Amino acid sequence: MLAIKPNCESCGKDLPPRSTEAVICSFECTFCERCADSLLHNICPNCGGGFEKRPVRPQDALKRHPASTDSPSVGINQDSHLEFIRRFPGVPPNRR
Ligand SMILES: [Zn+2]
Ligand SMILES: [Zn+2]
Repeated sequence: MLAIKPNCESCGKDLPPRSTEAVICSFECTFCERCADSLLHNICPNCGGGFEKRPVRPQDALKRHPASTDSPSVGINQDSHLEFIRRFPGVPPNRR
């Protein structure tokens, strides 16, 4: 089950459970679409994987299984992320 984290790990933007702007990697590192596309080049700065849109959990299910309120810390390691960008220039996630 997804934790549904409350904010972007890069810019800190609020990403509530109903947000349609949230994307996640396979470890559920969570970013806003804008950071994922522009800054991160679809490479997760923590694991090197790609992102997919985070599904929206319906309201009734959210009542039984609430979203996480633990905010991930904000800010990425620019150096290690540049390393990923150098290693995977334009390489799709399933080829990394
Ligand atoms: Zn962001
Ligand atoms: Zn990741």
